[in-house]
Amino acid sequence: MSIKERAVTAHGRGSGDIGRVVRLQGAERRAESRWREEELGLGQVLAKYPDISPFVIIKADVQRRGVIYTQAALGEVDPDRHMTKVRSDYCEKNDLAPVSLMLRDGTTIFTEGFMAGRHREPYVVDAASGRIVLTDEGRVIEEVSYWEKPDYYDKFTSRGTPMWQVVSARPQRLTIHPNQYCDFWKRKGQGCKFCVMAEIYNSTDKPPLLHVEDIIETVAEAVKEPGRNVNIFLTGGSLLGGDALLEEELDLYLKILTGISALFGGRKFPSQLISTAFSREQLRRLYDQTGLATYTADIEVLNKDLFMWICPGKASTFGYDGWMERLYQAVDIFGPGNVNTGIVAGVELARPKGFASEDEAIASDIAEAEKLARRGIAVVSCVWRALKGSVFQRQKPPSLEYYIRLAKGLDNIRRTHGISVDMDNYRRCGNHPDTDLGRI
Ligand code: SF4
Repeated sequence: MSIKERAVTAHGRGSGDIGRVVRLQGAERRAESRWREEELGLGQVLAKYPDISPFVIIKADVQRRGVIYTQAALGEVDPDRHMTKVRSDYCEKNDLAPVSLMLRDGTTIFTEGFMAGRHREPYVVDAASGRIVLTDEGRVIEEVSYWEKPDYYDKFTSRGTPMWQVVSARPQRLTIHPNQYCDFWKRKGQGCKFCVMAEIYNSTDKPPLLHVEDIIETVAEAVKEPGRNVNIFLTGGSLLGGDALLEEELDLYLKILTGISALFGGRKFPSQLISTAFSREQLRRLYDQTGLATYTADIEVLNKDLFMWICPGKASTFGYDGWMERLYQAVDIFGPGNVNTGIVAGVELARPKGFASEDEAIASDIAEAEKLARRGIAVVSCVWRALKGSVFQRQKPPSLEYYIRLAKGLDNIRRTHGISVDMDNYRRCGNHPDTDLGRI
């Protein structure tokens, strides 16, 4: 039975002319029923952390729990104006859903790819009297807006490829995923346990490898739009092959970045690459031969034993210490404030090998982030969703308070060590509650 068939209920209290809401039922509903009693809710966390922007707290919770849309909210989607995706589990077959949300202060909320948490009820996006609002249990939490579509989205490259398929957009960033696969997924049991890359890419009709010419043409077109973009970002799965480890991945990025650099007269341009951890010599080529400005290699989890369990491919190829060493080498080349590493915050609590408590997990994360900060490297966190298709799909991510404590701790470390996080801030990325705190 589809979700649409499962339930469509009236939904009221506080949000006016409310549309129809899709509700989960059965076992999923029962599993969700107790979580509100077991952890602090949004209102309690807002009250307990008055020094943290309420927008950041709302963002973290929405990313943690996911969203669904009422028919009224979907009725506010304008495909000429908004970035949309066709159909997902919570929509009618041909409904256009918004790609993601934005709060009144410009804080972005990524909702793409996750409609509802398995363990907690999602927020509901509704519309009334021309306002689009985020609601929970019928109460309006905040006004939201849908991401606006960039000018290049409906255009085609000279090869006839739709530009939106080549370069995706965030409100102020261009995002390039040149390869749609990861070598760790090809090796049984080597993929990262939280990762859904294989699931996502196997379900799209994107080619495994984008044409470099398509990418350059699309970026050239996209940067014509005045006042929109502050950053160009690249990432993809690990490509381990070539004459030496990772040469295939490096060659791909060198080709793309060289082409984009030419658009900027060969100079450094606002840009970020998240790649597998390159060697010193490879990093040197990347820095010297292209206009790439900042560099990231995601360690994913800040604990050696858990890294081995959760990221077995990365661990067996590079080792935890080896990955860290390559980050230190990147700082030597790109400079402090231009290198960071991302974590999937919360996977360190995954069962059965993760930390037994949120207190222990936070203490460990902060201690390890402090070590990296002493070497000029910022740690940035993403909110973990236990997504369908990942090994961890049945795990329960931590509480909202955990994410706020961690965000606060990571922000404090950067302030203490004077590390700028502009390379990954709310405009250039927008996916990290901790770097949103750097605005203030
Ligand atoms: S390296 Fe890990 S997280 Fe990255 S795409 Fe491969 S499996 Fe996924």
